[in-house]
Amino acid sequence: MDDKASGSAGQVEPGRDFIRDIVKADLEAGRVAQVITRFPPEPNGHLHIGHAKSIVLNFGIAEEFGGRCHLRLDDTNPVKEEQEYIDAIKRDVRWLGFDWDEHLYHASDYFEQLYRWAEDLIRAGLAYVDDQSPEEIRVNRGTLTEPGKNSPFRDRSVEENLDLFRRMRAGEFPNGARVLRAKIDMASGNINLRDPVMYRILHAAHPRTGTAWKIYPSYDFAHGQSDAIERITHSICTLEFEDHRPLYDWFIEHLKVPSQPHQYEFARLNLTYTVLSKRVLTQLVRDGHVSGWDDPRMPTLAGLRRRGVPASAVREFVKRVGVAKANSTVDVQMFDHAVREAMNTSAERRMAVLRPLKVVIENYPDGHSEELEAVNHPDNPAAGTRKINFGRELYIERDDFMENPPKKFFRLSPGTEVRLRYAYFITCREVVKDSSGAIVELRCTYDPATRGGNAPDGRKVKATIHWASAAHSLLAEVRVYNPLFTKPDPAGGAEFAKDLNPNSLELLSDARVEPALSKTEIGVPVQFERQGYFCPDTDSAPGKLVFNRTIGLRDTFAKDLAKG
Ligand code: ATP
Ligand code: MG
Repeated sequence: MDDKASGSAGQVEPGRDFIRDIVKADLEAGRVAQVITRFPPEPNGHLHIGHAKSIVLNFGIAEEFGGRCHLRLDDTNPVKEEQEYIDAIKRDVRWLGFDWDEHLYHASDYFEQLYRWAEDLIRAGLAYVDDQSPEEIRVNRGTLTEPGKNSPFRDRSVEENLDLFRRMRAGEFPNGARVLRAKIDMASGNINLRDPVMYRILHAAHPRTGTAWKIYPSYDFAHGQSDAIERITHSICTLEFEDHRPLYDWFIEHLKVPSQPHQYEFARLNLTYTVLSKRVLTQLVRDGHVSGWDDPRMPTLAGLRRRGVPASAVREFVKRVGVAKANSTVDVQMFDHAVREAMNTSAERRMAVLRPLKVVIENYPDGHSEELEAVNHPDNPAAGTRKINFGRELYIERDDFMENPPKKFFRLSPGTEVRLRYAYFITCREVVKDSSGAIVELRCTYDPATRGGNAPDGRKVKATIHWASAAHSLLAEVRVYNPLFTKPDPAGGAEFAKDLNPNSLELLSDARVEPALSKTEIGVPVQFERQGYFCPDTDSAPGKLVFNRTIGLRDTFAKDLAKG
């Protein structure tokens, strides 16, 4: 669903966080004439809700301050990157409501320029080819408390370095045989400055440059220079790059780049019960824990979209989280709240029985049926009304009946009277069971005078329950999703599987929904009264209705967990 029309992305007041303060000050002081930001995903996975924070921030700032935001695919590692991911990234950024116009770039567009700058550094005596093995390089880099050791190859002549680097490019050496390193300071307190790797040998085909390159630049060497080429004014990234900033600045200072971008760091989004590591998300897909990147349980934008979450809810949520300088974890209920809010106003109401129990109205004429009127949205009369069919045989929710109810149970039980929404009062007369003792049917009577849901004699009932006509309703599959993890802070890395929620998907294969629901389009949200917000899944087809539960009406997950 593309709900771009339902809200422009530019609703935030400018100057509300420290990055906006910086941008504003830079504009006012004339340090920059036009703000240019970028969103730089690596196409090695699908975008998730954490990326949404960065997208909303970068595109949002550009929009608010009259600048522009580039979409740059940071495609410097051909081993993990795929065209499928590039396409998905573009689709997801658009879905979220943003547009880069003609400003789509790829780090790979700059490979030739980056290579020339690397030669410039060699000529300036600021880069060298190192023949140490990857293991030796790692060991000699030192630790947080111990300085590193200079490589025995550190003082090669400019000529030898140039010759070796050109032969690296020509593909003369195998993977891992040599690297190009910046010559900075092996004793630096900042490990990123201990002669960082600029180029690695990699005999791998690239989705865009094919087999033209046998060496690929590191993130650190590519990123800042790509920003400079695009004249990015504010290079906004997450906090883990704070320690890389001195290196970012070092390259910009020592190269003849066309502009001087500055890097600013903000806290990444973390959510309870959610993993946002691309590595773990990739593994969830590969190991079949989910059905794919767009499995509605995934925190990916594709998953959220398929689940029925409106893009406006994602934008609103990340705006509310705000932009801070210290890492923290946001309660996933805050996200759920934003989803409910967005859906409450837009979703029309329908009736669906998820776990049906048959009800026969004994005093209702056999073979007869009638149409009753139901409102489509209680707060929006313009949404109008629709007709629903009532008949002798109905379904109600299993949970709405108890044979031996506790004191506070006001729904249906033997001898009690409840209201069927938009229809009549009914009273349960008899419970029918099968040979194993399971309840299979309720025999009830209705009061014809209560049509529409009120008794002329003024008597009250304590509960109103939803229902579906056995003869008219349609069979549907309903997929109820629960959080993918059972712990607020699931184990990261290889350990993640132990915290997976075995009940993250409940398949209800014999739900009964009112016929109007066969016309709901994929991705359009509806509220199933008393149950939550739902939308047709992409697996839905004529004659096979499949609904996703986007979100329940209120949070029951914490309660269920406590119950065990
Ligand atoms: P990795 O680098 O491990 O592949 P990543 O999640 O950092 O994964 P990138 O494609 O590099 O993925 O991210 C693109 C941009 O999105 C970066 O600028 C990054 O800082 C930002 N980003 C990624 N995850 C989050 C998050 N959880 N919250 C906010 N921004 C994020
Ligand atoms: Mg990254």
